[in-house]
Amino acid sequence: MTEREGKAGFRWKGSDEGEPVLFSADELFLPELGTGRMSDLEFLHVTAKRILNSVPSNSRAPANWTINVYRGCSHACGYCFARPTHAYLGLDIGDDFDRKIVVKINAVEKLRQELAAPTWRREAVAMGTNTDPYQRAEAKYRLTRGVLEALTEHRTPFSILTKSPLVTRDLDIVAEAAKTVAVSVNFSIATLDERVWRLTEPGSPHPRRRVEAMARLAGAGIRTGALMAPILPGLSDRPEQLREVVAAIRGAGGRLLGIGPLHLRPGVREHFLTWLHGVDADLHADYLRRYATADHAPRRYLEELHRRAGL
Ligand code: SF4
Repeated sequence: MTEREGKAGFRWKGSDEGEPVLFSADELFLPELGTGRMSDLEFLHVTAKRILNSVPSNSRAPANWTINVYRGCSHACGYCFARPTHAYLGLDIGDDFDRKIVVKINAVEKLRQELAAPTWRREAVAMGTNTDPYQRAEAKYRLTRGVLEALTEHRTPFSILTKSPLVTRDLDIVAEAAKTVAVSVNFSIATLDERVWRLTEPGSPHPRRRVEAMARLAGAGIRTGALMAPILPGLSDRPEQLREVVAAIRGAGGRLLGIGPLHLRPGVREHFLTWLHGVDADLHADYLRRYATADHAPRRYLEELHRRAGL
């Protein structure tokens, strides 16, 4: 692998053949600074070579294909598993991941080409696997909306995972798609605890607004639900906290898709534990013990979570 300086001023990596892994030299554009309510963000415009990404057969993704029109995520969850994707661009996985958002500005046009190909089999497509498709940038760029329109026109089933009620802006398209193909809109809701939400997901919409959005989708007959993850030991794993989320999901007419403890893959681990040390030194010591030999919690903790949640 080689490393070079991109036009946008950040390093990016190319293969030994000189071909970039992510974007070629003529695909990098100058960054655009956000304005108004997005003045804390910077947008890095790129034209992507592909939009539909095939999922490896050993992946646990909910579909054979994924689409991620952004890279980085202003929801800024401290535990985010996708942070290392920014390192590939020579950006840091902390503040840059939260504030410098890569925008695939040709996403909709490119997707239409890929969907029109005779080889496309209309297999299910998942969105929200590596970035939130309804993060703040979507209010400005509307790329996810364009993607949904293209998928609907090509009768391609899809699922969405988000932390934002902005998805209800596109309820008209989702409802149209649901007439002909399988669609689902799901939310990530690990906690309804105000303090824990502010601490761990500081750029995301309030989780109560996600529950309200779920109720609206369910009321419109859209398949919807929530994933309770990641549950953070010592922060969001008390029985009353877990049961409050389960009750809210069911009360909104959603399905509980699963409950999962924190996973600390390399890179994320260092970022998260450094942050946690600044928040609570005792809790930090506890996590060092819990995650001393593995990047995931033991099976007995997952079983304990189910018990505590009353499942
Ligand atoms: S919403 Fe998802 S992609 Fe965005 S920062 Fe949080 S965990 Fe990461």
